[in-house]
Amino acid sequence: MNTSVIGYPRIGKDRELKFESEKFFRGEIGEGELLLTAKNIRKSDWESQQKAGITYISSNDFSFYDNVLDTAFIFNIIPQRYKDLNLSDLGTYFAMARGYQGDHGNVKALAMKKWFNTNYHYLVPEIDDDTEIKLTGTKPVDEFLEAKALGIDTKVAVTGPFTFLKLARFTGAKKIADVSDSLTSEYVKLVSVLASKGAGYIEFDEPYLVRDLSSDDIALFNEIYSKILSNKNGAKIFLQTYFGDIRDIYTQVTALDFDGIGLDFIEGRKTSELIAENGFPEGRILFAGLVNGKNIWRNNYKKTLETLKGINASDIVLSTSCSLLHVPYSLESETGLAEDYKKHFAFAEEKLTELNEIASLFDKDYNSDPDFIKNQALFEGRVNSEDKEVKHAVASIKDEDYVRLPVFGEREKIQKEALKLPLFPTTTIGSFPQTSDVRKNRQDYKKGNITSEEYVAFNKKKIAECIKLQEQIGLDVIVHGEFERNDMVEYFGENLNGFVFTEKAWVQSYGTRNVKPPIIWGDISRKAPITVEWSKYAKSCTDKPVKGMLTGPVTILNWSFPREDISIKESILQIALAIRDEVLDLEANGINIIQIDEAALREKLPLRKSDWYSEYLDFAIPAFRLVHSKVKPETQIHTHMCYSEFTDIIPAIDAMDADVITFEASRSDLQILDSLKENNFKTEVGPGVYDIHSPRVPSVEEIVAALTKMRAKIEDSKLWVNPDCGLKTRGNEETVKSLTNLVAAAKQIRG
Ligand code: GLN
Ligand code: ZN
Repeated sequence: MNTSVIGYPRIGKDRELKFESEKFFRGEIGEGELLLTAKNIRKSDWESQQKAGITYISSNDFSFYDNVLDTAFIFNIIPQRYKDLNLSDLGTYFAMARGYQGDHGNVKALAMKKWFNTNYHYLVPEIDDDTEIKLTGTKPVDEFLEAKALGIDTKVAVTGPFTFLKLARFTGAKKIADVSDSLTSEYVKLVSVLASKGAGYIEFDEPYLVRDLSSDDIALFNEIYSKILSNKNGAKIFLQTYFGDIRDIYTQVTALDFDGIGLDFIEGRKTSELIAENGFPEGRILFAGLVNGKNIWRNNYKKTLETLKGINASDIVLSTSCSLLHVPYSLESETGLAEDYKKHFAFAEEKLTELNEIASLFDKDYNSDPDFIKNQALFEGRVNSEDKEVKHAVASIKDEDYVRLPVFGEREKIQKEALKLPLFPTTTIGSFPQTSDVRKNRQDYKKGNITSEEYVAFNKKKIAECIKLQEQIGLDVIVHGEFERNDMVEYFGENLNGFVFTEKAWVQSYGTRNVKPPIIWGDISRKAPITVEWSKYAKSCTDKPVKGMLTGPVTILNWSFPREDISIKESILQIALAIRDEVLDLEANGINIIQIDEAALREKLPLRKSDWYSEYLDFAIPAFRLVHSKVKPETQIHTHMCYSEFTDIIPAIDAMDADVITFEASRSDLQILDSLKENNFKTEVGPGVYDIHSPRVPSVEEIVAALTKMRAKIEDSKLWVNPDCGLKTRGNEETVKSLTNLVAAAKQIRG
């Protein structure tokens, strides 16, 4: 049996791409050096796959920032404001990704959104009425030839036109129907150029097919691919889907002339059923996505082989369920992790071995095969550290534990009275710049180079300085700055029982930002108070209200690698009880504003609407309420969500029953505000007034303009003024300037 990989991690085993890109942004290295780093990463990635014996290896899965942006770029879908900067190609590309402020001008970045149900983000292409779609980029061809020169014949993976169009934003009068023809023609050109350079296989990634599709969507897909598939120019064209099943379009897809179709058997609950009921066309390859590209647990060979044997198709290639971009490189780097844990995990490199082993087991009588026996032992032997007390606590949760009293309207009055904040209160989302001294302090402490007293003293100094700075700037609700935290999830994980940590298991989140998700290994409980001492100290430094800062249960789960032996719901409730203890301890220590971040709430929202409540929101939202339901009426609960993509679940967000919610709005032109108004959103809101994902400093006028738009939709008494996310990735200088402008803007509109 042959094997296939949809995509491979591309940040470099030691995160070289991040570090070199950042050097490039700071002007410390030139384009040539960055290009060379990228080339070396691609080489090493291809060679790992070649060495593992993978049959179908992808090229063009590499990206300097994001593959959707790459696609926009090669088809000249570059808004004029970026072209006007007159930068080099790479400079223009990065300006679209990160915004640009410098000698050539001043523009914001493209909007950024979560990639389906993952923690990876894509840049939203913008198509306006003047966009001239034409194939101008050569990246897919270049990377194919680069691999070929290394003796590796790759399939070229491209973001498919259907998904691309569905994800794009149309800023003028034109809509999808007005541009789909010309975009399709340019894809046809791409196929012909690739074929002429000797590319035998081209993979079109169309994850959008796993969503709910309308009849218009299906017609559009048919139209696009009828054209592409009648112009193959000798290349074989594969369709690749992932993150679910394609129930709405399966019969149409299998009727088209694709040479291979990739289906996800992990998240695609109906994939097996679809094939069994409708058959799979003769003479085509079925890429069976059975090695999980998102989670890090070992594949259960027995289950996988049984599924494979049950598929009625003549030519099956074993594949990953999605790109391996979503898992870390290799367990080899985890020198500190005990073998007892490690043997249960598979990162990208180990998944290559799994693909290979399963494929060769498939062709034999596997029951007595040593690889098979060794794998089965893992599943018979695994006993998670079970905690009876935790199990009991979860079982004892009562309905009233999910309800906070008195109701919001009454609490709002009580809190206004107690906190005496000005109109349009100003605040931040929690973290302040994580400068090198802050990181060094944490690392020194971890390595044992400094004592715990030294570590704490440094952080206290930082907190005191940060508070003074916020007072000088004139912010109303003060934060301590989160200097003790590496990452908002890892930090809590480290202070809870049940988590396992890695050293180098980085996964790309967006651009140069990588995250290192902890692994949920066992039942979760709180060892001891986590943030209380820091918040108490912060409070002692100022007379202004200090906001305590926690990460919520849904986000902790969504940004970890979850268990597969108990339900997501069960895990979330365990975490909720642990964080509830922390909320109550903060309150008992005089912290009367507490923010519980749910940055990743939307992440695991099922891709199909029919599953939203029953499969997710029905337990995720109550879990959040469980965390804060027991606080006093005068304690103000804030929450924060990255991105404002909750237009369609506003009632669920309101049902979190927080007192204040802050979220990103600056990149998405405040579309969210109308929906809040329409839905009579009760919670007070702080739609971010500027974009912290870019180093650009917003002017006072710009912030006043944003606030003026907001005031048209939101009652003055409910509007907060804040950036759109934490400031930890920013530098000090731009942070001070931006926040100073923010406070000036708030004062201006108060006046
Ligand atoms: N409180 C966190 C911070 O400011 C929130 C981060 C986030 O939303 N991603 O860093
Ligand atoms: Zn955020």
